[in-house]
Amino acid sequence: MAFVITQPCLGCLDASCVEVCPVDCIHGLLPVDEIRQIQLDGDEARLANMQLFIDPQICIDCGACEPECPVEAIFEEFDVPEEWEEYIELNAKFFES
Ligand code: SF4
Ligand code: SF4
Repeated sequence: MAFVITQPCLGCLDASCVEVCPVDCIHGLLPVDEIRQIQLDGDEARLANMQLFIDPQICIDCGACEPECPVEAIFEEFDVPEEWEEYIELNAKFFES
């Protein structure tokens, strides 16, 4: 079991979850430092179609990230709302390569 990041993260990316993850298993297309710089530059439009994902192979299911998310995008795998179930696979697929 792992935690899963779902649709509300899209374009938000404040990365509070990354700060508290003890195993550094939350990542996106860009490094968090770069995301922060884009936000500082006021260029959020560049992040509109991006979100972060949780690597289910590394997540230790501690739950620390879930209460940190300001848009309630993080759920335990068994608790993902039906309309966002595809995100279980999307999170896993992001780390397949
Ligand atoms: S549940 Fe814990 S280990 Fe998994 S992503 Fe969240 S903070 Fe990281
Ligand atoms: S999951 Fe929540 S806390 Fe983490 S980057 Fe996305 S919106 Fe921010």
